[in-house]
Amino acid sequence: MYKYVQEFKLYENIFIEPNIQSANYDGVIVLLYPPELNVGLPRQITSFVDSLSKIDNHIHKVPTVWSCDYVSGGRLVLSPTGKVTPYHDVGVIRDAVKKGMQRALDAGMKKPLLVITSVVDFPDGQLVGILGALEALYVPLQIREIKDTKNFIHIGFQSDEKVTDVFERVVRNALALEHSRIVARDIAGSDPERMAPAKIVEYVQNSFAGDSNITINVIEDEAVLAKEYPLLAAVNRAANHIERHKARVVEILYNSSNPNRVTETLLLVGKGVTYDTGGADVKISGRMAGMSRDKSGAAAVAGFMKACSILKPPHLKVTGVLCLCRNSIGEDSYVADELLTSRSGKTVRVTNTDAEGRLAMADSVFKFTEIAAKELNPHIYTIATLTGHAKACYGNHTAAMDNHSAKATNHSSKLQFSGFRMAEGIEISTVRSEDLAVNMGKCKGDDLLQYDTDAKSRNHQLAAGFLIKVGGLEDTNIKYTHLDIAGAAGAPPEEPTAVPILTLCHAHKVLI
Ligand SMILES: [Zn+2]
Repeated sequence: MYKYVQEFKLYENIFIEPNIQSANYDGVIVLLYPPELNVGLPRQITSFVDSLSKIDNHIHKVPTVWSCDYVSGGRLVLSPTGKVTPYHDVGVIRDAVKKGMQRALDAGMKKPLLVITSVVDFPDGQLVGILGALEALYVPLQIREIKDTKNFIHIGFQSDEKVTDVFERVVRNALALEHSRIVARDIAGSDPERMAPAKIVEYVQNSFAGDSNITINVIEDEAVLAKEYPLLAAVNRAANHIERHKARVVEILYNSSNPNRVTETLLLVGKGVTYDTGGADVKISGRMAGMSRDKSGAAAVAGFMKACSILKPPHLKVTGVLCLCRNSIGEDSYVADELLTSRSGKTVRVTNTDAEGRLAMADSVFKFTEIAAKELNPHIYTIATLTGHAKACYGNHTAAMDNHSAKATNHSSKLQFSGFRMAEGIEISTVRSEDLAVNMGKCKGDDLLQYDTDAKSRNHQLAAGFLIKVGGLEDTNIKYTHLDIAGAAGAPPEEPTAVPILTLCHAHKVLI
């Protein structure tokens, strides 16, 4: 059916190339840093670029293409970072490389060689830069499936005139991370039919096939879902009448090849609402467009599992769960005022069917809380495009919220540091007692409110408070961090960002 579908061949046709005059390339991309950073250019082109600088200062503003006999293919793309201030992070390198690679493709290059020297100010600049280059080459899954879109034949990366182990490791990490991000982008970016729950299951099973460190467990039986994931089942009630829109819960387990070396257990829950109409509280005035991205949390969890599958961190045991459902509108929609009973036994009064993400994840969080008690050094995460409020507060950055146990280890600060290193913005937000209290049931006998419709502020924090309460995390010492990626996940027409895969891989030392 999918004639052209193929995984990106990232390994076979990517090379480390020490010689910028090699005959194997049809052009070279070089980053131009501002003079104050003192980053040297390859010696072959130093005087060539110096003389260009004197003619036209504009080369420091936009990528330009030059005929140049001193490099492979006789074509040189100069891609400037522009001014770099103390407020910039390594994202300036990612963006410059991405633009340079796009310019090279526009120029017709099929075999570009990227020169990416190390820069003192940005310790992971080479890694992030290569990721920027690979990002430019990504073609969405549904486009790959309908036409042959190979946009390059091979690519080279050059750091220096000799190949070092350090640079080789950088390239290997970049390729593994890009593979992981392709998984996340494919799932998050495809339309709601191409990535309906069962289709996501099929994609995930294909993606991890043959890896003995990975086990996949799919829960699809309706009776089991209704009993063990009652809140997710309520969200999916209208969708459940359509065979292809039925809900799935997918558990992906990564086991270290050497269990004796495991020092940490990660338990990740991803919101995978394949389409969010808002439900009976339907999204109006055009606010529904783009809601196929409401599965970006589950997509990121799948991508993080892919990174573990490729890089095989010996010290981690990881379970990722994708909570896949669809918030449809129909005669069987769940509605406000219904009283649901969660897996934990706590009752939840529905108040707004558009606050479905917390319900989709709640029972999985509770299951993890129970499992975590028996695991070594556990840390539970929820990753979700959960609230417009997170976007209103932090723009295109992720809001990170620790519970009391994770806060005791300054976990969100560590994530923020990793985010800086990898050019993924993480903002630390605080869950306070009021954010837990606001979720208490108001009607006689109710345990919890799904969402306080009177709340005029703190919506992203109170969603974390709800998950802490419904997940049974209030009275335990289990570490828990909620990541609201509503602003960070990327909205159409931009490609999905696949956040926070890079941050998690950096923070939990998945990289080699
Ligand atoms: Zn919603």
